Amino acid sequence: MTSQNFDAVVIGAGFSGMYMLKSLRDTLGLKVRVYEAGETVGGTWYWNRYPGARCDSDSYIYCFTFDKQLLREWEWSERYPEQPEILRYLEYVAKRHDLKRDIQFNTRVTGGQFDETSNLWTVRTDKGDEVTARHLIAAVGSLSDTNMPQFKGLEKFKGQWYHTSRFPHTGVDFTGKRVGVVGTGATAVQAIPEIAQQAKQLVVFQRTANYCVPARNGKVAPEVVKARKADYAGVVKRIRESFFGQEHYFIPKSVLEVTPEEREREFDRMWDAGGFAFWLANYQDMFFSQQANDVCADYIKRKIRNTVKDPAVAERLIPKGHAYGTKRQPLDTNYYETFNKDNVLLVDAKTDGGIEEISESGIRAGGKEYPLDIIVFATGFDAMTGPLKALKLRGRGGRTLDQQWKDGPRSYLGISVAGFPNFFTITGPQSPSVLSNMPVSIEQHVEWISDCIDTMRKTGKTSIEAIPKAQDQWVAHVNEVVNATLMTGANSWYMGANIAGKPRAFLPYLGPEGVGGYRRKCDEVAAKGYEGFELA
Ligand code: NAP
Repeated sequence: MTSQNFDAVVIGAGFSGMYMLKSLRDTLGLKVRVYEAGETVGGTWYWNRYPGARCDSDSYIYCFTFDKQLLREWEWSERYPEQPEILRYLEYVAKRHDLKRDIQFNTRVTGGQFDETSNLWTVRTDKGDEVTARHLIAAVGSLSDTNMPQFKGLEKFKGQWYHTSRFPHTGVDFTGKRVGVVGTGATAVQAIPEIAQQAKQLVVFQRTANYCVPARNGKVAPEVVKARKADYAGVVKRIRESFFGQEHYFIPKSVLEVTPEEREREFDRMWDAGGFAFWLANYQDMFFSQQANDVCADYIKRKIRNTVKDPAVAERLIPKGHAYGTKRQPLDTNYYETFNKDNVLLVDAKTDGGIEEISESGIRAGGKEYPLDIIVFATGFDAMTGPLKALKLRGRGGRTLDQQWKDGPRSYLGISVAGFPNFFTITGPQSPSVLSNMPVSIEQHVEWISDCIDTMRKTGKTSIEAIPKAQDQWVAHVNEVVNATLMTGANSWYMGANIAGKPRAFLPYLGPEGVGGYRRKCDEVAAKGYEGFELA
């Protein structure tokens, strides 16, 4: 059992925890302890080792930008590197900045209590540590709390089963096996084509079809890499000021105003570019008008029908009931083509009452038994609020985040929660976070939190806390902005709709000026002496 006092405790050693440590320890000179449940750094990239796992943002911007030399030196092998390569990068960063000496691995935070007299947090871990810290920073990731639905009969299954977010480090050999994949979100869309190449038979259990667009992964031309490196200052400035933390910009027109020929040309251009272009650089009314959205969706539906040979399978793969782009965009590499393979079967796990049960030998759905050797659950996460609630923190008056968020998340700027002084959330609920290229939002929050702590120390303050009224206004603003879009209509994890009993509320923050406008708002709050916060 360790009992120590730190200036700050950081929970998690992924992108956000690593940079938070670097910033507090090396820039401010604080005594910092990081707790990490995994055996090394990496967070998302440590846990998610399923076949086909790779980033969905272009690698030249899916990285740290604080280390300018590394930015120039690091060579990514392709447009969207695979999980092992991203993990190697994070290991390299940890070594380069000597981060591991302040990270306690294989240690999960199990609780924390704010002391209203001393303004200190006491943090407990599953290894028996009980330490105090002035500042507590959650760097736990937005998508780290695994959603494993309680399927009836799972305990009876005689084969092997895995959740994609807790995949074995040794990998899984699917050769010659009958494999079932449950789910068709961004994870499954990456995994399915890979598993289909190995498995004797692959059965995909789809509850909701998704709109997938091609990733178009591959080597990046050396002259493009060179030009980007030469202009990294420009790249960083542009992504920081952009809407989504990417070099994507909406077409400043209505899709309904242009001729069918013009929009077809634009759609082809975005489709051929691959990646998030079709989602984040489409016509500006796509997220606002159902009629405009239908035109964009129709293009993808035509692509699905043209790619999938069996018309009945194609119809099953065509999304119904939600507008295009209102669920997270999966990027695919041969996803639709995979359903043309003889060894791949698509089961509609919704219309016939869903997955009924898991038996000793497979999955029963729609009154039919599908014999399986391996089941892969790609069923996602209790997003954003899940990993924070799991910390079991108690703020002022012993209140928990469960109590605070029983009707949905309430935060101030997605960084802070009223009643939880000196507690910061990196890419927390009601910040742009998952709607942006994550490293951009992570770096912004880390730098803001670091500046805030620095200011507190220089001005002799021992406590900072969001004022409830400022928080109420922020929550109202977050909801007002999103209510003007089509986003709230989908049963997405953005809305908390994937978790039984979770309140239906939009979890991240969408604009209205994207990450650029949000950054300006946060900077303005700081410039006005941390407006909306009480400093004591
Ligand atoms: P997800 O998007 O939540 O998808 C989960 C899938 O499981 C959905 O198809 C869902 O169906 C299905 N499902 C859940 N419970 C089920 C049940 N009881 N019965 C049948 N089906 C069930 O999760 P994910 O694919 O892991 O992706 C989560 C997020 O992680 C992504 O949206 C993305 O932000 C991130 N991600 C990022 C990358 C990357 O950047 N490289 C890659 C993968 C994932 P419904 O749609 O009907 O709920």
